[in-house]
Amino acid sequence: MRRRPRCSLAVVKVASRCNLNCSYCYVYNLGDTSYRDRPAVMSRTTADALIDRVARHCRRHRLRHFAFAFHGGEPLLAPPQFFRYFVERAKARVGAGTTLSFFIQTNGTLLDEAWCVLMRELGITVGISLDGPEAVNDRWRVDHRGHGSYARVRAGWDRAAAGGLDPGLLMVIDVTANPAGVFEYVRALEPRFVDFLLPDATYEKPPPGHGDESDAPYADWLLEMFRLWIGDAAARFRIRLFEQIIHGLLGIEGRSDAIGRGVNEVLVIETDGAIEPVDVLKVCGEGTTRTRFNVHISTLDEAFQDPLIAKYRSSNEVLCQTCERCLIADVCAGGYLPHRYRADNGFENPSVYCRDLMKLICGIQRWLVATLPKDVIDGQHVVPLTFADARAAIASPVASPTVAPRGRTTTRRRPSARSIAGA
Ligand code: SF4
Ligand code: SF4
Repeated sequence: MRRRPRCSLAVVKVASRCNLNCSYCYVYNLGDTSYRDRPAVMSRTTADALIDRVARHCRRHRLRHFAFAFHGGEPLLAPPQFFRYFVERAKARVGAGTTLSFFIQTNGTLLDEAWCVLMRELGITVGISLDGPEAVNDRWRVDHRGHGSYARVRAGWDRAAAGGLDPGLLMVIDVTANPAGVFEYVRALEPRFVDFLLPDATYEKPPPGHGDESDAPYADWLLEMFRLWIGDAAARFRIRLFEQIIHGLLGIEGRSDAIGRGVNEVLVIETDGAIEPVDVLKVCGEGTTRTRFNVHISTLDEAFQDPLIAKYRSSNEVLCQTCERCLIADVCAGGYLPHRYRADNGFENPSVYCRDLMKLICGIQRWLVATLPKDVIDGQHVVPLTFADARAAIASPVASPTVAPRGRTTTRRRPSARSIAGA
């Protein structure tokens, strides 16, 4: 049965500005200027309207869990009282049948002891953006005067760790950085988890480091990271991208909007209350994410009438023709929607990172096949999948997809890369 569109995660743009000016930032430096028309910080009136919309939405959809992710710009540019007000009001307004969770993604530069105490008190889990050792981080993550942010971010990280916040780490990949050096750096930080992100890119704004048609530098970088991580029994941190791929290969549905199957239940609420699809779509150009919906006048359900919100929601289920032919479509699911964008045909493309995603997933699939017990592998008739085979499958106009969007009948002519431990 098809589920009605619903939202279970609101990304709350608490502040529209940032005290940093990272060169790769989709908010400020990749072609969208909508932040200029927005209030610098969200007002309590808008927070009230949002919380009331969420409370009604949770009741209507009988949601057992709803998450708020405080985001920016830099969310800590909003006053501490705002967060206390927001969390307390949300807990008071959303019914007891729904468990709430709160998360903040910050650049860490403003994270002092008072903030740490507040985050702990309010039960807000913390993620900090930091790209690696100083030289790696400061290549892109600079302030408005072009100065590197490393010392300030690292100080924030240390305070968060010392303050018991057990932060997660968000890292944008720089393929010019030595993966072994980055691994050792992360290992020493001991984060709860790491999210390695591909730089925001489209066919119009290709990823840094992408060269000719044959290379896949992000796959090479990530596979080296995978080798180091999987081979180090003492490394306690999780790397969510690898976990998501392994889950996909095992047939377990994930919760990422960037890789793997599943509908996306995320809405972004801007500082003025505008309801928008995922903010990284701003990389596609000026005003891409604008909608006519706003928490002051619209319900969260109504926002799913917006074509781009609807497309984002089903972006890992409805794929382009090339992706439908792909042997690992159920694991990759076309990659992140913003990365599919091309000016002449919109989003009807594989990810601009297609080669990287394919090589990475094939590499992890071969590791998994080599690792699982032989009787499991033999029983499922699974064979190791090479990058060349996967490339050939999408190149062939008559190739039958191994896996297509759920519910469709498919003809299998090739070994499946997915569900290798299940039916
Ligand atoms: S810290 Fe985040 S929001 Fe601020 S400029 Fe950097 S990427 Fe953009
Ligand atoms: S690997 Fe490429 S073709 Fe396959 S699903 Fe991902 S983006 Fe599409």
